[in-house]
Amino acid sequence: MSYNIPDDKIEEVRERSSIVDVVSRYVTLKKTGRNFVGLCPFHSEKTPSFTVSEEKEIFHCFGCGAGGNVFSFLMKIEGRSFPEVVRDLAENEGVELPEDKVPLVKSKEEVLCDEHKDLLHSLYEKAAELYSRLLMKSPDGAAARDYFKSRGIGSEMAKKWLLGYGGLGWSSFSETLKSQKLLDQAENAGLVIKGRKGGYYDRFRERLIFPICDLRGRVVAFGGRIVDGNGPKYVNSPESPIYTKGNVLYGLNIAKSDIRSEGEAVLVEGYMDLLALNRHGVKNVVASLGTALTKAQALLLKRFCSKVVLLFDSDSAGIKAALRAVEVLLGCGISPSVVTLPAGDDPDSFVNKNGEDALRERIKGSSSAIEFILGEKLKDRLSDSPSDKATLIREITPFVRLVDDSLERKLTVKRVAEILAVDETLIAETVEPSARPQKFAGKGEVKTAGRGREKKKTKTQVALETVFALSLWHGDVLDEALKSGIFRDLKDPEMGQIGQKIEVLSEKERAVTPSALMDLLDNDSQRERLSAILIKGDVLKECSPLAVFRDCERILKESSLLERELAITDRLNDALNRGDEKEVALLLEEKQKIIQARKNDLA
Ligand SMILES: [Zn+2]
Repeated sequence: MSYNIPDDKIEEVRERSSIVDVVSRYVTLKKTGRNFVGLCPFHSEKTPSFTVSEEKEIFHCFGCGAGGNVFSFLMKIEGRSFPEVVRDLAENEGVELPEDKVPLVKSKEEVLCDEHKDLLHSLYEKAAELYSRLLMKSPDGAAARDYFKSRGIGSEMAKKWLLGYGGLGWSSFSETLKSQKLLDQAENAGLVIKGRKGGYYDRFRERLIFPICDLRGRVVAFGGRIVDGNGPKYVNSPESPIYTKGNVLYGLNIAKSDIRSEGEAVLVEGYMDLLALNRHGVKNVVASLGTALTKAQALLLKRFCSKVVLLFDSDSAGIKAALRAVEVLLGCGISPSVVTLPAGDDPDSFVNKNGEDALRERIKGSSSAIEFILGEKLKDRLSDSPSDKATLIREITPFVRLVDDSLERKLTVKRVAEILAVDETLIAETVEPSARPQKFAGKGEVKTAGRGREKKKTKTQVALETVFALSLWHGDVLDEALKSGIFRDLKDPEMGQIGQKIEVLSEKERAVTPSALMDLLDNDSQRERLSAILIKGDVLKECSPLAVFRDCERILKESSLLERELAITDRLNDALNRGDEKEVALLLEEKQKIIQARKNDLA
C-alpha cells in the first residue's frame, strides 16, 4: 500500500496509539491473563471471543476470525479508509502529518465516487443550514416554532439537534442552487423533486425538519414532519449514495457516548419521542426512524452496548413493532427488554405528563423480552386446553432459541415453564433438540474461517505457522528464519504473501513487528490469518524459541523434499511411459539426490 503519508509517520502514529485504548472506545474489555477480551463488535456473540493483545498490538476474534492492528480495527468498525484512520489517530496523538492529498492508491472511479459523496454531504449541510435559519429566524417559521415550543423544545435543543423548517412555498431550497449541476445533484440526494414542467420543487417544503446524521455527525438524510394541514404526516429522504435507510439510527451520533457509558440504549420509534426523553435528561436514546428495526441497526447499536430497552407506543402497532425488534435484537446477541406504557400513551406524552422519574422507574422495571412476548401471547390465548397450550409453546420456543448464552437460555426455559405451568422438560425438549438456528450475519457474513481452518491443519501447516509466530516474537528466530529463506516460495499463497512482506520489512531495515506487518498486508484475509497465528502462538512464548524453530524448520524441509520427490516420481512415470530414456536417467539422478538429502536431514 502506498499513501501520501510517509512510512515513518505511520509508524509513529501506530506506536503512540494504544490498541487497548482505541478498542475500548467500542468494546468493553476485560483483562484475562496476558490479553484483553470482550464481546466481538463484528459478529453476534454472548461469550467473549474477541481478544486484544497489548504486547503485540493486535486483535483477533476466535468467533468470526476478524483480526488486525489498531488501524485495521478502526477501518473495519468505522467503515473508513486507511489514510482516514491514520489521520484521525495522528490528531489524537498529536503527531503532525504532511498536507492531506488524495491517497495514491485510489482509482479514478473511487476518487469520483468520493467527490460525488462529498458533494451530496455538502448539499445536505447547506440545506440543513437554510432550514435551521428558516425555523429560528424567518417570519414564515412561526408556526413551526410554536409547534416545537408547545412540545417543550426551545432554541437550545433545536440547535443541538439541527432542527429546521422547510419554508413556505415550493422552492426555498432549490432557489438557492444556482447551477443545473447542483440541482441535478440535489435531486440525486433526494432534496428536490423534478416537476413535470421541468422545474424543481423542495421535497421538504413546509415541513418540520429532523436531520438524520451518520456516526460522524454528517447530515445524510432528513425526516420531514407536517406542521399541520393535509398530506402525509412524514416525508423522508429516499436512499442515496450517502444514505441507506436501514443502516442509520436517529440520534446515535449524539447518544453514542452516553450509551457506551450506561452500557444500555433506549430505543424509541419517533423523532419527537427521542427529543422528549432528551429534554427530560434521558440521553442514551436512539430512534429507529419509523421503520422496523433492521439487523444492521441492531449490530450498529451492539458496537456501543449489549442491552437495549424498547420504549414503543402502547398501541397495537407499537406492540407489533416491539415484538419484531425483540426478535432482531435477540438474533444479534443483544439482550432486549420492553417497557410497557399505559394504554393511549406514547413515550413523548408519557414523559411530558409524568416526568423523568416516572419514566426512569418504567425503564428500570422493564420486563425481559421473553416475559413480554409471553405476556402478549397469553393475552390472545383462548383456553387452557392442551392444544392451545401446545400452540403457545410452539410460538414461544423460536424466541427462546435465539437466546445465545446457554445458561441464560436454560433459565429462560425454566421461567417459561413456570409462567405456563407446565413441566420444564417439555419446554427444554422443544427448544434444544433441533440444531440452533443460524444467527443473523453481521454487515458482512459471519465467517467461521478461524475455527474451520484449524481442524484440517497438517503437521506442516502447524510448523509453518509456528515459524511465523516465533519470528515475530523473537529477534534471534527472525534472523535465523530470514537467513534460511524459509519465508520465500511458500506453497500456501496467503502465508507466502505474509512471508514476502516480512522480507520487505527487514530489507527496508524497519522493525518487523506484528502491527507493522499488518499494515503491509494486502487484505483482511491475510490480516485475519496472521492475527490468528499470533494470538494462538502465545503459548510459544514460554518455550525455548530457537529449539522449536529448528524442529519446525526440519519438518518443513522434510515436507518440501517429500513433495519434490513425489513430483519427480510423477514425471518419472511419465517419462517411462513415453520411453524417454534420457529424461528417465536425469530424473533418477535427481530423485537419488533428494533421497540422500532426506537421509542427511534425518541423521
Ligand atoms: Zn467476531
